[in-house]
Amino acid sequence: MKFTILTLFPDFFPGPFAESIAKKAMDKGLFSIEALNIRDFAEDKHKTVDDTPYGGGAGMVFRPDVVAKSVEAVLAKNPAAKLIYPSPRGKTLNQKKVEELSEAENIVILCGRYEGVDQRVLDHYGFEEISIGDYILSGGEIAAYTIIDACIRIKTGVLGNPQTHKEESFSIAGSEFLLEYPHYTKPAIWQNSEVPEVLLSGNHAKINEWRLGKSEQITKKNRPDLWEKFLNNKTK
Ligand code: SAM
Repeated sequence: MKFTILTLFPDFFPGPFAESIAKKAMDKGLFSIEALNIRDFAEDKHKTVDDTPYGGGAGMVFRPDVVAKSVEAVLAKNPAAKLIYPSPRGKTLNQKKVEELSEAENIVILCGRYEGVDQRVLDHYGFEEISIGDYILSGGEIAAYTIIDACIRIKTGVLGNPQTHKEESFSIAGSEFLLEYPHYTKPAIWQNSEVPEVLLSGNHAKINEWRLGKSEQITKKNRPDLWEKFLNNKTK
C-alpha cells in the first residue's frame, strides 16, 4: 500500500511512522509514504501556491492550477490512485471507511492549509472529502496521519497479533456500533481496588457475557448515537 501526500510541509512525513510498529511494517515493505511539496509545482518566481478567495473573506485558498500539477504528477505514475482531501466538510471517518480504504493500493492525500483548496480541482479529480471529527485543524497533515495510521494497523502483518483489531471498539461481537469493554492486568488488587472476579474465573463463556454487557453499558452511556444504531441493527 502506498500513500502519496501532497503538502506544503513534506518534512511532517514519515513523522510518527518512523517509529514503533509502523516503522517495522514499512521496513517489511507493507506500506510506504512519499510526501511531495505542492510548492514545487508552482511556476512563478515566488513559488506561489495560494491566492485570495473570490467573493472576499479572510484567509487564502490553494490555487487549482498549482494543485492540479501536483495531482497530475502522482496520477501519471498511479492512474487508479484513490484521491482523498481531509476536510471538516467531509463525512466523518469511521472504522468501516478505514476498512474500505485499507483495500486500496495507492492513496493520495491532499493536505489543505489556510481556507482550503479551490473547489474546482476537488471536483475535477473526484477527491473524496473525509473529516476526522467536528473541529478545525490548522492543516490536513494531522488528519493524514490519522487516516494512514488507522489503515495500516489493520493490514495483514502489521500488528503482532492479527486478532487485535478484530476485538476492539467498532468490532465487538461482530458489531460496528459497540465500544470496547474495560481491561485489567496484574496486580489483581491495586489501591484496594480488585479486578472483577469473573475475569479470574477462567470461564470464557461468562467472561464473554460480562464483556458484552460492559460494552453495551459503555456505548449506551458515552455514545447514545451508536447505541441507537446498535439497537436498530439488532431488530433487523
Ligand atoms: N475553512 C475550512 C472549513 O471551515 O471547513 C477549514 C480549513 S482548515 C484551517 C485547513 C485544512 O485543514 C483543511 O483544508 C483540511 O485539509 C484540514 N482540516 C481541518 N480540520 C479538519 C478535520 N476536522 N478533518 C480533516 N481535515 C481537516
